[in-house]
Amino acid sequence: MEIKPLGDHSNSSLETQKAPSQNTQTNGVFISTYGCQMNSNDSERMYSLLEMANFTPVNTPEQANLIIINSCSVREKPVHKVYSEVGRYKKLKKKNPNLKIGVGGCVGQQEKSALTKEQPLIDFVFGPDNIDELPNIVQNAYSSDGKIIHAKFYNNEPYHIENMVRNPGVSTFVNITKGCDNFCTFCVVPFTRGRLRSRPAQDILSDIEKLVDRGVKEVTLLGQNVNSYMGECGTNFAQLLVLLAEKTNILRIRYTTSHPKDFTEELCQVHRDYKEKVCDYIHLPVQSGNSEVLHRMNRVYTREDYLKKIEMIYKYVPSVSLSSDFIVGFPGETESQFLDTLSLIEKVKYESLYAFKYSPRPFTKAARFGDQVAEDVMQDRLDRLLQLHRAGSFQECQKYVGDIVEVLVDKEDSQKPGYMTGRSSQNKITHFEGSRDLIGQIVKVKIEQSHPQTLHGIRV
Ligand code: SF4
Repeated sequence: MEIKPLGDHSNSSLETQKAPSQNTQTNGVFISTYGCQMNSNDSERMYSLLEMANFTPVNTPEQANLIIINSCSVREKPVHKVYSEVGRYKKLKKKNPNLKIGVGGCVGQQEKSALTKEQPLIDFVFGPDNIDELPNIVQNAYSSDGKIIHAKFYNNEPYHIENMVRNPGVSTFVNITKGCDNFCTFCVVPFTRGRLRSRPAQDILSDIEKLVDRGVKEVTLLGQNVNSYMGECGTNFAQLLVLLAEKTNILRIRYTTSHPKDFTEELCQVHRDYKEKVCDYIHLPVQSGNSEVLHRMNRVYTREDYLKKIEMIYKYVPSVSLSSDFIVGFPGETESQFLDTLSLIEKVKYESLYAFKYSPRPFTKAARFGDQVAEDVMQDRLDRLLQLHRAGSFQECQKYVGDIVEVLVDKEDSQKPGYMTGRSSQNKITHFEGSRDLIGQIVKVKIEQSHPQTLHGIRV
């Protein structure tokens, strides 16, 4: 049974929240996070909200009176992962009857009350759209003997949140959209995160100004599909970037993830015209190099359309570093269609990529396709794809040797005393000799060695 409502889900309701000090000793909260940067950012938000409700973040589940699993259902066996993690907390729950265990994120949204039925150790479940109600949900879990299930969307309400991050450091994330309207046939996101909603541009601007005041130098704008952003006055994503570049003192702006169909010439021009701030790194997931497979995925572009976009990007941003996502073994994918994916990888020369074997997700159309590809075939294709990419990316990254790159320094090198690390505009982790006082500065580094993920050089 779904218990609702849990009160107003706007931030204002939090002011009146009290911590469940009642039976707990430390009010320690531990959040276990799976999945993407969006989920990591959501966990930060949960910690911040729970701190306002008098909880204290702790480093291990053993120290906690409240454990939250912020789950992800994009990859394989997500529900099993949740059950197996909760199972590990059985002894803790026995030792500490005040311990409450909650499941949030996409699995919470997808499975709802099924989770508590299958695994009685789970006390409450909530969805990604209910994070701002978390203190209320937790309060109810402490004051009720029953299970609390609160996983509902507010699809028609404006997306007003304030960025919440506890220790942002030099570089941090800012949500700009949530949800997705694209319904790619393999993807569960529209079902677990709801319809696309965009934050007002002024809210994003004000978040970034505040982060700059806290010492942040670089932000990554986050969303399932950031370039479909549409602000309240018709501000599109390219215009949002211009606004942020011109009106804030942030040094660098990145964003993830983009959809090729929404990657416009206007956006390429912004990369060119605001190169100082908008980084030379674009993650543009293609998923397959074959047009028929793309059609069955409902990606709404062909191989040729995608290659034209890549050509356009290189025209405006010749120094760009590209990365992408691939799915191998999508239902019905033939060997020759897979070879089209390999040939696309050779053609585009990605510096990094993420490749996965297809796995059916609940509610999705592709899960019902009859022609699922055998596991051993998928594994073989994945191995071949990664092998091809490894060889090509090593070759590709040699172009940096001898170059001078600008690095935003973010920390000491944990492996090498006296060395610092940071990221180049192309998103390469760069190591060089230096001292802690450089943290937060952009320095020039001459590259002496280059590997697909990292660069090594000397400061000039
Ligand atoms: S655009 Fe991305 S988030 Fe949206 S349905 Fe497709 S894969 Fe999922």
